[in-house]
Amino acid sequence: MSARQLTALISVSDKTGIVDFASALHALNVRLLSTGGTAKLLADAGLPVTEVADHTGFPEMLDGRVKTLHPMVHGGLLARRDFPEHMAAAEKHGITMIDILAVNLYPFESTVAKPGCTLADAIENIDIGGPAMVRSAAKNWQDVTVLTDASQYAQVLAELKADGKTSDKTRFAASVAAFNRIAQYDAAISNYLSAYQEDGTQSAYPGQMNSSFIKVQDLRYGENSHQSAALYRDLHPAPGSLVTGKQLQGKELSYNNIADADAAWECVKSFDAPACVIVKHANPCGVAVAANAAEAYSKAFKTDPTSAFGGIIAFNREVDGAAAQLVSKQFVEVLMAPSFTAEALEVFKSKVNVRLMQIELPPGGDTAWLQGRNLGDSKRVGSGILLQSADNHFLKKEDLKIVTQLQPSAEQLNDLMFAWTVAQYVKSNAIVFCGGGMTLGVGAGQMSRIDSARIASIKAENASLSLKGSVVASDAFFPFRDGLDVLADAGASCVIQPGGSMRDDEVIAAANERGIAMVLTGVRHFRH
Ligand code: 5GP
Repeated sequence: MSARQLTALISVSDKTGIVDFASALHALNVRLLSTGGTAKLLADAGLPVTEVADHTGFPEMLDGRVKTLHPMVHGGLLARRDFPEHMAAAEKHGITMIDILAVNLYPFESTVAKPGCTLADAIENIDIGGPAMVRSAAKNWQDVTVLTDASQYAQVLAELKADGKTSDKTRFAASVAAFNRIAQYDAAISNYLSAYQEDGTQSAYPGQMNSSFIKVQDLRYGENSHQSAALYRDLHPAPGSLVTGKQLQGKELSYNNIADADAAWECVKSFDAPACVIVKHANPCGVAVAANAAEAYSKAFKTDPTSAFGGIIAFNREVDGAAAQLVSKQFVEVLMAPSFTAEALEVFKSKVNVRLMQIELPPGGDTAWLQGRNLGDSKRVGSGILLQSADNHFLKKEDLKIVTQLQPSAEQLNDLMFAWTVAQYVKSNAIVFCGGGMTLGVGAGQMSRIDSARIASIKAENASLSLKGSVVASDAFFPFRDGLDVLADAGASCVIQPGGSMRDDEVIAAANERGIAMVLTGVRHFRH
């Protein structure tokens, strides 16, 4: 034990585990200082505790806005024990050293997450004295142990028990954790307030730049092996998003795996019926809906078996033995589903490289997939960053405008809606042939729409799929009739597209001439 009795200041909003921690400190002869609510809890548990107000000689005031903002507290946290001038000043002013600080902050994040939280509620939950103390202690990490999370208590107690003090390593790690926590907290406040104006009304853009992220892991490398990379997640990830998933087996996910897995997962989430999405290089190369997972996979795979090799596969239903057997016949990098049966897990057990990810679907009905998109997208441009809200437009059949003499049948309408959903996840220019609840040919990422149309029909031909009577989605309008002619030549019977081109009349006339039904959405889905 060190010669001097150690002092711990404990001031926590979330009081989980605090009585046990304080009891253990007391057993180690550590003196306990505490703020009002925490002090009461500790005293009720029979622990000898000095209230900070008694320690400073100053009452807690202004509804708790001022409790610990006092030189007796901050001097005790900030004084360098190895600086004689600091020690002399402390002694002169009767400041005792505080060696351990355990603080968790007013629950700002959970308060603003509650429905109906007002600006005033939020502001009352901005902790001032807590972060100030945490910063003081974290700055003086060589002498002070700062604890901002209950998960840190056990390690500190173990070290105090063994050595009478904490190690440099633990104190430095705790200091870093403390500054991280303060950064997150301040970012949450800044995010929240940035969406408001002084009269309490909300501003137009929901996603703020100052998001708080938590590092999930370093990645072996980025898109290429000479690039370094890491994965971060939002402090509060949206339910049903990729980063909430659990890896059940397989090699570590790579940068490209994660990017492709996200594309596949976001796409598969948008279907209500059992669906399967196979992604390669960020584009779906096979998507299908069917009565069950196994059938959906078989159909999706048929779209483009060549590209599916080494694919990233997502299901929105449990993967059972039948689906697992089928998938296991192909080379697969990542397989995602809300759950896997024991039989399915058994199938992949011997395929140790296959990465299995279990990810919960977002709760809620039809538009559950919209959740979590409000954070929007960001993209680096040189030394700048582009932000936009998410492409979460939800098209309803009632919104469609039929512009041709021919009308799509009910079945064709279903396929058009399916094709439109898939097109949203295909890089522009996107042309997607579909039929019978599956993709038949996907043309992605070309610089001209007509080339995407040609590629989509070549792909169908390569997979020996007939496009006769197929439906087609185009993510943006046809600037000329030539693209439409390619679709008609390939056998398309209906087309869904935004419309809005200067030459819409020419394109609609071409559709009528070629015996094609056409519906306009009025919305486009560029994806770059
Ligand atoms: P208690 O429940 O012990 O009364 O209060 C604990 C909470 O008060 C902790 O979350 C701590 O961060 C916060 N706190 C400590 N000192 C101050 C202060 O001077 N001002 C404000 N606003 N909060 C403080």
